[in-house]
Amino acid sequence: MHIGGFQKNSLIDFPGTIACVVFTSGCNFICPYCHNPDLAAGPVQGAGSLHDPEAIFSFLERRRGQLQGVAITGGEPTLQPDLIEFCQQVRRMGYKIKLDSNGTMPHVLERLLDQNLVDYLAMDIKTSLAHYPLVIKGNFDVNKIAASIALIMKKAPAYEFRTTCARPFITTDIMAEIAVLIQGASRYVLQKCSQNVSVLDPEFLKKDQHFFSPEEMQDLKAIVETSVKTIAMR
Ligand code: SF4
Repeated sequence: MHIGGFQKNSLIDFPGTIACVVFTSGCNFICPYCHNPDLAAGPVQGAGSLHDPEAIFSFLERRRGQLQGVAITGGEPTLQPDLIEFCQQVRRMGYKIKLDSNGTMPHVLERLLDQNLVDYLAMDIKTSLAHYPLVIKGNFDVNKIAASIALIMKKAPAYEFRTTCARPFITTDIMAEIAVLIQGASRYVLQKCSQNVSVLDPEFLKKDQHFFSPEEMQDLKAIVETSVKTIAMR
């Protein structure tokens, strides 16, 4: 595992669970609004002993009874060749696991779910299938995104799909396509794109036309809310 960051304690990253957060390094996407540009640009082995998986296991050993879960985020965790083994070890220690993913590696998600290694899966839906080439490096089979969505809805014990809302990745037409893509999903979260953070492409933040007003966010929500069981905005 290339681990670029580690947070010992979080009350917000794993719904209903006191968790630590493991940030894997490296991503196959190039979302200009990415809040973790250093991680996305990896893989780079992070400095500090807690970035060594063995040190994290030792930490988890010491925190038994205090922490309940481990949230694994990125970058894109499913690119890590030893993610399954990492999750198996965390599971053997009795912790719950939440995984964040961009959904590009459905075969990895399937192995994790079939081995009961994930309790909560959060998958980003970046845009409509047709527009995915805007955010991914090189050639990519967008059917993998549809496959991950179907797999998660079928097998994940708990999950959410979530979308960071910024133009040109999201428009009202694209949101209508996403509504069809995730029809029947148990939870969908619309995330407002923040202009006050460091991101992968700082130029992106300088253009106001990329951002939605609160009223426009409500319009996007209205497009999709009848297609999913619960919807939230953050
Ligand atoms: S937002 Fe997520 S998927 Fe996009 S570049 Fe950053 S880590 Fe990768």
